[in-house]
Amino acid sequence: MTKPLDGRITLVTGASRGIGYAAAKALAAAGSHVIAVARTQGGLESLDDEIKALGGTCSLVPMDLRDFDQIDRLGGLLNDRYGRLDGLLCNAGVLGDITPANHVTPKDWMRIIDVNMTAPYRLIRSLDPLLRVSDAGRAVFMTSSVARAPRAYWAAYAASKAGMETFVRCWAEEIADITKIRVNLLNPGGTDTQMRAKAMPGEDKSTLPTPYDVAPLIAEMLGPDYTAHDTLVSYRDWAKAQAE
Ligand code: NAP
Repeated sequence: MTKPLDGRITLVTGASRGIGYAAAKALAAAGSHVIAVARTQGGLESLDDEIKALGGTCSLVPMDLRDFDQIDRLGGLLNDRYGRLDGLLCNAGVLGDITPANHVTPKDWMRIIDVNMTAPYRLIRSLDPLLRVSDAGRAVFMTSSVARAPRAYWAAYAASKAGMETFVRCWAEEIADITKIRVNLLNPGGTDTQMRAKAMPGEDKSTLPTPYDVAPLIAEMLGPDYTAHDTLVSYRDWAKAQAE
């Protein structure tokens, strides 16, 4: 039986847990080979086991996305091995401390900006040539409502997502007419993950969607049939439309 993503190669950052983990499984179940990036070896290995159990395939890339030179090397390795990339899910993220803006430490600032904004830029720089080779390159970048609706005590995270969004949208404008790549932003909304538990301690998790609720939308957005470009997709709106 053919699957919608058969033969495709998709790179997922932040694949060791949370939304990235569930998305990687959904992509593999849909037939894509998954290149799974994160620091935590144990999380990646458990993903590999689960994907194999589904009959899918996965390559593990344990790495720190703050090692920007390694992002460049990753592009070279993928070029040597596959010569193209069909999908990029730029999902890895860090929240940092929820704290007044004038209390954000320089160390935390750099970590948040590195992972949430600079790594997406470096991934675009490294992987754009490979996405161009695909017959239908797709890229999805995970964002948050605070990028456009600033909230007290979320300054560093909000700024990092706003900066990432703007960089991605400029890239999307540049490539719209001259490539087949389609690029979109996705706001999952509050989702039951480690990050959300840190942001909202004490919240009743049973009210939240799980990463496995969000994952099918991500797999859809990374498929060749998804032709929207330069849009901001809301998981909540998508789920509402699905329920109607
Ligand atoms: P999570 O459970 O905390 O997972 C974050 C992922 O990012 C992990 O796999 C982590 O892997 C990876 N990561 C963090 N720092 C990294 C680094 N330096 N190098 C490589 N990988 C790194 O978060 P999540 O809730 O699934 O969030 C996924 C995305 O959705 C994020 O971009 C987040 O901002 C966005 N988002 C989430 C929510 C929500 O409610 N959950 C809402 C809005 C937006 P390692 O630690 O193994 O490296």
